[in-house]
Amino acid sequence: MVPGYHRPAVVKVNLGAIRRNLENEMKHLEPGQKMLAVVKANAYGHGAVEVAKVADEVGAAGFCVAILDEALQLRHNDIVKPILVLGVVSPEYAPIAAVNGVSLTVPNLEWLKEAEKYLEKDNLQLKIHLGIDSGMGRIGFNEDEDFIAANKFLENNDNFFVEGMFAHFASADSSDESYFERQIKKFRHMESLLTVKPKWIHIDNTAASIFHSGIKSDLVRFGIGIYGLNPSSTPDTPDLKPAFKLEPALSFESELTHVKTIHKGDGVSYGSTFVADEDTIIGTVPVGYADGWIRKFQGFKVKVGDKYCTIVGRICMDQFMVKMPEKMPVGTKVEIISADPTAPNNIKAAADYVDTIHYEVACLLNDRLPRVYYEK
Ligand SMILES: *Cc1c(COP(=O)(O)O)cnc(C)c1O
Repeated sequence: MVPGYHRPAVVKVNLGAIRRNLENEMKHLEPGQKMLAVVKANAYGHGAVEVAKVADEVGAAGFCVAILDEALQLRHNDIVKPILVLGVVSPEYAPIAAVNGVSLTVPNLEWLKEAEKYLEKDNLQLKIHLGIDSGMGRIGFNEDEDFIAANKFLENNDNFFVEGMFAHFASADSSDESYFERQIKKFRHMESLLTVKPKWIHIDNTAASIFHSGIKSDLVRFGIGIYGLNPSSTPDTPDLKPAFKLEPALSFESELTHVKTIHKGDGVSYGSTFVADEDTIIGTVPVGYADGWIRKFQGFKVKVGDKYCTIVGRICMDQFMVKMPEKMPVGTKVEIISADPTAPNNIKAAADYVDTIHYEVACLLNDRLPRVYYEK
């Protein structure tokens, strides 16, 4: 999608908040621990290159992304520190990762054998992290036998450098710790089977790092916390308290492009789900579900000027309408999502409204919305 530079709709990102969140996490790390900044999915919608540069300055040891192309984007933008791809990359692309010094996740023994074929051909060495499925049920080794065989395979194998071994928590953001403990136990067991020596053994994500201590993870893969959002954020349970203050960085802003009065019996948008029962002032905002502002947000209140106004009628592909208490001019600022966590239209409130998590709301905001950076 082409970014809309000639339309008043932008995602604003406060790099100052991002810097402070990263600095606070650096101070919070346990002795000897390092941080990998997780900037997958365009840094959760915030802009991968810009966020990675701040994390680099603050002292991150490296970066995590989800797919190989995200790693290459960072390399093309002069990021030289280690980058780990957390997902499974097709073994045929192992040489591209090796040449670019990008570390890949090993999901199982077959993957290693396949990747070796491609690496041998060009006499390349790939940095790898052994993925462990300690209960996430997603990727990685979960059987002793396979893991022992993989270790054997890697001994004296010059096509691979074992940079790490890691697992991912399914519920580090929950107050019920039994599954969390079970995952640590399984991880420690797999660790005891190692015959190769990874440089970094890591399991912490944001939630593990800010809600738990003493896990002995060489690295923290710090993701959602960078963006100032609390990982424990389901609509129905109270948030766990993080170890330090998290400052949200993202706001989503537009302007009124049209204002009018409609009269009794007039409908608004597809299907006329809103029909005026009296003279009603309606403002139009040039943002829609094609930007990631999904139809479920109908009824949510956004800030128009200094008034919170309800979205009425269906959200269209590229526009939505609000019901306004008074006439305001075209060009009036519309704050769809506020970076202020106490504002009624903060990103968690928006996520709660559509029954999801703020991770998803941030990621939905797509490339048609230019990112504008400021530092405050
Ligand atoms: C996304 C991801 C993270 C970061 O998780 P947050 O909850 O955002 O801190 C860490 N590790 C893995 C494997 C991930 O996929």
